[in-house]
Amino acid sequence: MDYFRSAIDRMASYVPGEQPQPGTNVIKLNTNENPYPPSPKVMEALQCLDSEYLRRYPDPFAKEFCQAISDTLGAPADWIIVGNGSDDLLNVLVRACAEGRDRTIAYPTPTYVLYRTLSAMQPASVVEIPYADNFELPVAELIQANAAITFVATPNSPSGHVVPLSQLRELAQGVSGIVVIDEAYVDFAEFSALSLVQEFENVIVLRTLSKGYSLAGLRLGFGVAHPKLLAGLFKVKDSYNVDAIAILVGAAAIRDQAYKEACVEKVKASRATLTTDLKNLGFTVPESHGNFVLATPPARNAESLYLALKQRGIFVRYFKQPGLDDKLRISVGTDKQNQVLVEALARLISGSEPSDRTETVSDELASSKT
Ligand SMILES: *Cc1c(COP(=O)(O)O)cnc(C)c1O
Repeated sequence: MDYFRSAIDRMASYVPGEQPQPGTNVIKLNTNENPYPPSPKVMEALQCLDSEYLRRYPDPFAKEFCQAISDTLGAPADWIIVGNGSDDLLNVLVRACAEGRDRTIAYPTPTYVLYRTLSAMQPASVVEIPYADNFELPVAELIQANAAITFVATPNSPSGHVVPLSQLRELAQGVSGIVVIDEAYVDFAEFSALSLVQEFENVIVLRTLSKGYSLAGLRLGFGVAHPKLLAGLFKVKDSYNVDAIAILVGAAAIRDQAYKEACVEKVKASRATLTTDLKNLGFTVPESHGNFVLATPPARNAESLYLALKQRGIFVRYFKQPGLDDKLRISVGTDKQNQVLVEALARLISGSEPSDRTETVSDELASSKT
């Protein structure tokens, strides 16, 4: 018996970074979580939660959260769509806009692997255009592909580079479909493309609370676009895609911009230190505008370093695919966590330590409060 559509049989599963059990003593630098806890206002909002909020269905449009975004970022509340993480909105976009060979999906690579997974699931044909070594956006090729959806992550993962607004503008002008600007890491960058939604009806900017706001576990993201573009997406999203707790707690997080900024500044300072330390060990580390770095070890033995670090309780991300299989994507942790990582790498690289030894990290270091 064939249980599944052929597209599902053929597709590869999306493989998220490992998530060890909470309380396990690991230094977790593999899925770009923020090393600092969420705002104290978030925990306060959780504690004050009225049971009535849980008894009733949540607001399908998460208006309270939209209002908080509107008050802090300036986007009008009716230009906002809220999702169960921005992954939910990527899914909604693909379901609403892409199909088969006529309504295709295009994006530059390497980038967020979920774009490919969602396309395969739909299914919709994909045009993948490799970035050149200088990470210049392949604008002409993307325009030529003229896809129903063009995804551009900026800052991009895993490269950490940003795409200039002029190139995004050119792209938005040149295609007839939707341009999705995935700003999951924008809190760690110097500029945003949010203003483009006013210039172009076919642009949607996606944001998440998972990285900058330390709320990956809450599952909350949002998109900003012209109401005409949102109208189709609202038809596709689940009515209650965002739960009542996320709406309330997310609003508290968004309203505490000062706390988020303070954490972001710490992460940016640590990113600079980590970059310098890795370069001193002989790694190649391009400038990153996210809360992670993509580092190439001097001996290009990324996979064995990844495994050796894992044995020592230090998780980083390794992508076994052409162009990335000689690199490690390392999330920026606290200065202490980064230091333990750098010291472990120094020992492994100098050969002073065999790579098959096991070791665990202390409670203090595994906790985000250090
Ligand atoms: C983390 C990430 C997301 C997903 O964020 P969620 O809101 O947690 O679903 C989307 N795009 C990129 C590029 C990411 O790195």
